[in-house]
Amino acid sequence: MRLPSELQLRRALGRWFRLAVYEADGRPVAPADVEAVYQELIRLRDDVGEAREYEVVSEEADRFLGATGRCGWCGGHGAHGVEGA
Ligand SMILES: [Zn+2]
Repeated sequence: MRLPSELQLRRALGRWFRLAVYEADGRPVAPADVEAVYQELIRLRDDVGEAREYEVVSEEADRFLGATGRCGWCGGHGAHGVEGA
């Protein structure tokens, strides 16, 4: 059975955030993996709808930070804005 789009989005975001942390830590990240997840995020944004996508992204970024202490956007330690500032 196909997972609901929102759950797929949450999983894709988790992968996206982990890739950011890998890059921040200097671990090897395959550009093809980054591109694949990015394309999935774009597709799922359309499926879920922009307003709901925004909420899910905020929730998942908070959850990731709580679970790992890392910013999902830049992979740095602690909380940052979505812009990675
Ligand atoms: Zn950051």
